[in-house]
Amino acid sequence: MPGSAYSPGLKDQFDVHMERVSSESSAPSLSSRRSSITVTKRRVSISVSHSRSSSMSRSRSSSIFGRLYTFDDLPFWQQDNDKILTGYVRETNSFSKCIQSLFYFNNESVNIYSHLIPSIAYLCLSLFLMNTFLVPRFPSTSTADYVFINVFLLGACTCLLCSGCFHCLKQHSEKYSNFWSKLDYLGIIILISCSMISLVYFGYFDHLGYFKFFLALTCLLAIGCSTVVLNEKFNVAKYRPLRATFFAVFGFSGAIPLLTGVYIFGLHGVAQRINLTFVFWEGLFYLLGATLYGLRIPESLMPGTFDLIGSSHQVFHCLVVAGSICHLKAVIESYRMVHSNFPR
Ligand SMILES: [Zn+2]
Repeated sequence: MPGSAYSPGLKDQFDVHMERVSSESSAPSLSSRRSSITVTKRRVSISVSHSRSSSMSRSRSSSIFGRLYTFDDLPFWQQDNDKILTGYVRETNSFSKCIQSLFYFNNESVNIYSHLIPSIAYLCLSLFLMNTFLVPRFPSTSTADYVFINVFLLGACTCLLCSGCFHCLKQHSEKYSNFWSKLDYLGIIILISCSMISLVYFGYFDHLGYFKFFLALTCLLAIGCSTVVLNEKFNVAKYRPLRATFFAVFGFSGAIPLLTGVYIFGLHGVAQRINLTFVFWEGLFYLLGATLYGLRIPESLMPGTFDLIGSSHQVFHCLVVAGSICHLKAVIESYRMVHSNFPR
């Protein structure tokens, strides 16, 4: 919608200018009216030239796609990463305009589709993977096997769907952005919880006491994280380190059942239950993604170069998907190993 593009700063300036003009033109004396007209003419010419230069700079930023904005065009609440200079969808205040942004390329397109498409794929897998491929291959599959593989698939689907919706709908307004941001965080908590639960189940399938303990621990940490994310009191800058700490503790808590397993079964025993290779790659992808995201690499090194493709958030999204695929591989391989090494 190129016709509706405007700079809020310019609009405010214009309103102030009009107020001044009206107050000056209501002055009674002729001499003061003359001087007012002179000053007003000068102001009009300044405003017009400013308006022309602004519209020229806007047309430069929007010339390729017609409805994109620069970082400086955005309202304050939308300004997040000053290393991404162009390609923005400006506050729409319209749900349908947010949906329309799915159909033209902007700097959120890769973020949206990199999670929306895999979320649909995970939904399809939850419907067909067990019934069509795995259960016929392993007739000894229990209901719990079936449930915990699908717990991960649905958890991954939910997380990626929340993320895709957040990146599409956050342009609506600050209120929408805050709401969907919380759902995005909740999606991450759901993915971490479902990932841990699904793998711990196969690691401790014959030691249900341990499984129940780690299940309770995961649920407790998930509730703690959700409280911090959803509580408005913690939704301010000074509590950002607290939120980051909760997520880090939650993420690294996955090491507790793993190390406990090494203590109980030995490394070889753990390797017979869980596919450690894919767990390693999963951890590596998540860690690399979080590091690049935190450091805003590569856009902080070359601002403006990765506006549409290749920014840290997009790389982070791709690595999250890669990590989740590794986890799926780890869960399915663990399921296969448990059924091969421990025939029931
Ligand atoms: Zn994201």
